[in-house]
Amino acid sequence: MATLTHKKILIVEDETDIAQLVKLYLEKDGFRTVIATTGADSLKLIKTDRPDMVILDLMLPEMDGLEICKKIRSVPDTALLPILMLTAKAEESDTIIGLELGADDYVTKPFSPKVLVTRVKALFRRLERVEDPKHTSYTYGPLVVDLSRHEALVDGKEIPLTAKEFGLLEQLLRHPGRVLTRDVLLNAVWGYDYYGTTRTVDVHVRRLKLKIPLLDEAIISVKSLGYKLSEQVPKK
Ligand code: CA
Repeated sequence: MATLTHKKILIVEDETDIAQLVKLYLEKDGFRTVIATTGADSLKLIKTDRPDMVILDLMLPEMDGLEICKKIRSVPDTALLPILMLTAKAEESDTIIGLELGADDYVTKPFSPKVLVTRVKALFRRLERVEDPKHTSYTYGPLVVDLSRHEALVDGKEIPLTAKEFGLLEQLLRHPGRVLTRDVLLNAVWGYDYYGTTRTVDVHVRRLKLKIPLLDEAIISVKSLGYKLSEQVPKK
């Protein structure tokens, strides 16, 4: 995959030997890398020298990986930046929290650098496949959404949706498995100059779930952050 090799990856890790090892293996595969050793530095770098992916260690001094992850996800500009979290085995509950807070994948320490590179490539491929902006229709189990015709059908039957409900559904379908914060959804659907509160998003998600019962289980509420559409279509 030629397009992958010029991608830039930010490695956020305070243990220099691990950071260097990851850098070495990624660069051997043609990736470009930048290293940050603190959360503050990583956030600064993300602003000034935007990477294509962040490899984020959970255990960092001062600001930890979860907090950094949350900050990245909360800013619309960086909300969809791919994040691969590095965790230690002993922190399995944190691992789950990491995914809940918006990491796209995780690798537990100690890890083989080769395996890490494989996971990085797999994540890039997964995101490229599902987030193609040229997509104009989405199929999610019995739900078919045609963006150009502004139609949502369940088992071939049209479900009348308001423009905002349709917009929300579009955002979720474009980014399956990824956490979208209320702010991000608000900006994408209502626009930056909308004065409503993030509660508006909750109200519309609830309506969407009432109109399309399949979504009741499929749209997952992520504690204190926002929503994500389950990658797996719930079985009825
Ligand atoms: Ca560390």
